[in-house]
Amino acid sequence: MRIFRGSFTQQEPMPEEAVAAAASVLRSGRLHRYNLTAGESSEAALLETEFAAWQGRKFCLALTSGGQAMQIALRAAGVRPGHQVLTNAFTLAPVPGAIHATGAQAILVETDANLRIDLEDLKAKAENSTAGILLLTKMRGHVPDMTKTMSVAEAAGLTVIEDCAHTMGAKWCGKRSGNFGLAGCFSTQTYKHLNSGEGGLLVSDDAEFMARATILSGSYMFFDRHGAAPGGGDFAAARYEMANMSARMDNLRAAILRPQLPQLEANIGRWNDRYAALAASLATSPHITLPVRGMGESMVGSSLQFRLPDAGAAASRRIIDRAAANGVEIKWFGDPVPRGFTSTHHSWRYLGGSDLPRTDAILAHLFDIRLPLTFSIADCRMIGKILCDVIAAEMGKAGNADLSDSQDSGDGNPVPA
Ligand SMILES: *Cc1c(COP(=O)(O)O)cnc(C)c1O
Repeated sequence: MRIFRGSFTQQEPMPEEAVAAAASVLRSGRLHRYNLTAGESSEAALLETEFAAWQGRKFCLALTSGGQAMQIALRAAGVRPGHQVLTNAFTLAPVPGAIHATGAQAILVETDANLRIDLEDLKAKAENSTAGILLLTKMRGHVPDMTKTMSVAEAAGLTVIEDCAHTMGAKWCGKRSGNFGLAGCFSTQTYKHLNSGEGGLLVSDDAEFMARATILSGSYMFFDRHGAAPGGGDFAAARYEMANMSARMDNLRAAILRPQLPQLEANIGRWNDRYAALAASLATSPHITLPVRGMGESMVGSSLQFRLPDAGAAASRRIIDRAAANGVEIKWFGDPVPRGFTSTHHSWRYLGGSDLPRTDAILAHLFDIRLPLTFSIADCRMIGKILCDVIAAEMGKAGNADLSDSQDSGDGNPVPA
């Protein structure tokens, strides 16, 4: 078997325009978003204007991270210490972290086999909790049926805040992820769809909500120096009632994000081509189950998840090790120890523990692969071939997952140890 030599964490270089824009901000010395000369608009303000237009929302606020965007959105939506907030059990650590930071309690909702929120469990938990907010994650880009999700939320009296960290550019029935609820939260952290190292964007059409969010972000009352903010009148109450959480984006990051935005649509196509190549290859394995995408979904395939329903824990570990020996880095959501990332609710002990049997059953067999745009289509096919071979070798052993968990002969394994 050939060994894959690509790096799963290597993103593309910044476009040259971004490098030039960054140099220009550095030469100006004016890195703080409110540090302007007469008549100047800051890079942060320009980014807000351009992102709001691209997204199709009235308002946009540039922030330090996706996690901060969620935390500020929750506070601006009225979440206070002691409140309960519903969110997906299958999500990334910044999501329960944002809820926890407000002093609220996260109530985790079960996941379905296609990695979307379980709407029956959402209904039940909305009824049996005091939560007024659903922080809806589309973890790893899996968009639920937003029409149904919004109607369940509405019937339960829930305000929806969308976590769109992995769905920037994704749509449900032609409408962009982030445009369904009160607000949408995006991340521009390196492994998302725009890259500024760290960063976040919050969008909404609600003027009062956005005025509160702007003050919370630490505006020092310079809300007139924003690109897509409500008018001064909307700040009448917010300016006295909201605390300064100092989560502003600086001009350097905004400057490198702006030239990336016009490339996003083309990049979505490139991600989806890579996803399709890898998915087609994995679909040839009888051991692998790929998530089924909804009919209304326009996805962004910047990562791929698959399940091995018949693999036990020991077999899963061996598959990861053998794939790694062949240069293919995969992660396993069923790992009882958080390694490299944390995405199982068992790792978030500060939440106090939740009983989530359906989510646990899915995560136990769920694997994750990043698909950076530095990979070619041929790379994706090669990764698929290596995984299919590694998995066939492991799962074919004695033809029994439980048995193969209790022995490790390595017989018939074509992969170098
Ligand atoms: C990356 C991510 C976030 C936010 O991440 P930051 O590192 O805080 O920008 C939120 N939710 C999900 C599902 C993510 O993957």
